Order: sequence, then C-alpha cells, then structure tokens
Amino acid sequence: MRVFGILGYPLTHTRSPAMHQAALRARGIDGAYMKFEVREANLVQGVQELRELGVEGYNVTLPYKEAIIPLLDGVDDTARAIGAVNTVVRVGGEYVGTNTDAAGLTMSLVEENVRLSGTTAIVIGAGGAARAATVGLSFGGAFEVKVAARRFTQARSLTRDTQIGLPLDLAYVGEHFQDCKLLVQATSATLHGRADAQAFADSLPLDELPDDCVVVDLVYEPEWTTVRLAAAAMGLKTVGGLGMLLHQGAAAFERWTGESAPLDAMRAAITK
Ligand code: NAP
Repeated sequence: MRVFGILGYPLTHTRSPAMHQAALRARGIDGAYMKFEVREANLVQGVQELRELGVEGYNVTLPYKEAIIPLLDGVDDTARAIGAVNTVVRVGGEYVGTNTDAAGLTMSLVEENVRLSGTTAIVIGAGGAARAATVGLSFGGAFEVKVAARRFTQARSLTRDTQIGLPLDLAYVGEHFQDCKLLVQATSATLHGRADAQAFADSLPLDELPDDCVVVDLVYEPEWTTVRLAAAAMGLKTVGGLGMLLHQGAAAFERWTGESAPLDAMRAAITK
C-alpha cells in the first residue's frame, strides 16, 4: 500500500485526509492518507520516521511549514520564494519541499473568473497564508500587491523576504481601498470561534472599495466569514477559502501520484 499524509500539530480539524482519501479512491490507488500528529519536541525524529516508513509524499501544516525546511533534502523555487513548505514530494530517494498554496489560490481565482493580470491587490495579514497569497498574486500577473498587517514590521518582513509588494499598516489600509480590485483577507481573525471576528470585519472600511472589487477570504471555517458577509452585503463579489484548499490539495496529489486530480470527488469530500 502507498502511504501519504499530513504532518502538523494539532490535526483535529483538518479536511485534508477526507479530501485525499476520496482522491485515492476515485483514481483506484491502493493508498492511505494518514495524520502524522507530531509534537514540536519530536519533529526531527518524526520527519526521520516518515523517511523510514517510505512515505511517498505528505502535506505540512501549522506549526511546521517553516521549521520543516532544514529537515528536508531541498526545496524548490516556489517554496523558497514563499519561505514555507506545505507539500513534501519524494523524488528518487530524496524528500523535496514545495508550496502549492500560492497556485491553489490562483487556480481558485481562475475558477471564479477573477482576473489577476494587471490588477491592484491588497493582502491583509502577514503570516504564512499571506506570504503564499502575495507570491501567488504576483506570479499570477498582478500589477501591484500591497500587504497590510496590524504589526507593520511583519508586513515589512514579508515584502522584504519575498521582494514583492508594498507594506502597509492595517490601521490605514482604507486609504488604499479606492484603487483596490482584489482584497485578500489572509489573517486568522475571521476563523470560527474568534471573539474578534465581527469587530475585525467592522474595522475594515469596505464601503470605500470600488464596485468591481472582489473580496477573498482564505478562511473556510466558516465558509461565509464576517468579512465575506459584510462585502456581499455591499454588493461585492466574494470568494471563500475552500477553492484554495481544494486546488492546493489537487496540485499536491498530482505531484505525488502523477495522475490528474479528481476535482469533483475532492470537492465533495471537503464541502460540508
Ligand atoms: P499565521 O501564520 O498564524 O498568521 C496569522 C496572521 O493573522 C498574522 O499576520 C496575525 O497577526 C494576523 N491576525 C490574527 N488575528 C488578527 C486580527 N484580529 N487583526 C489583524 N491581524 C490578525 O496563520 P496563516 O497560516 O497565515 O493562516 C491564516 C488563515 O488562513 C488561517 O486561519 C487559515 O484558516 C487560512 N488558510 C487557508 C488556506 C486555504 O487553503 N484556504 C491555507 C492556509 C491558511 P499577528 O502575528 O500580529 O497575530
């Protein structure tokens, strides 16, 4: 049996096992996608055990997307540009890190007929998802990407490391809304259970965005976040985070198996 999986801690809420099991089933591959829930103190040993187990490929999630890098045999250009790995591929006997989050986002935008080429975008947040989004939008042809974070220094580190974009202080992001054609919410503020989710949405002057601006929230739990709801109430087109989840998974599946990803089966598995 072929073995794939996901490495992280904790892994209570991940939808990746359901999505990849469905993909393996749909393609008739005798394989398993397992949860490798490894505590930080055991990370080095855990990664070594995945090698010894002969795992063909695995996803990496919080909190190890950066910490995994020195434990691999190498990373590709995309992972290097983002500074994080979300997918590990066994190539020959070597384990190489890549990042399919950026392509996952751009694929989901293509699917929703959102034009990237020549657009002016603002990414809110400066964590791992924001890094992937910034690189994805830039590689996808955006004319300009601005990165707004509540800690300006974090936005500045992102733009310095990636060599992409202009850093902004989130408190003043509204001053840049007039020219914005794509707003990407990439913080965890809108996640299910966050007490500040409504206050966060209320703090964004979404009414200053142009009518043809598309608002994307990378968070998919809930699918309709406070920011999406507020933007939709103003008549703006919105996109949720499930498409990015689907397409980053599809890209990983194709790298591991060499088969095309069964998108319908994967989508059904992650849609609740
Ligand atoms: P992360 O590395 O922990 O970064 C979180 C970011 O959110 C940080 O910049 C943080 O700022 C900021 N933030 C949190 N609460 C905030 C608030 N109230 N106001 C302003 N900024 C706030 O997490 P991540 O990996 O980037 O993930 C972010 C979210 O994206 C996750 O919740 C996840 O649901 C989503 N995501 C979706 C996909 C997908 O496939 N759709 C993929 C990856 C991630 P501080 O550092 O100042 O706290």
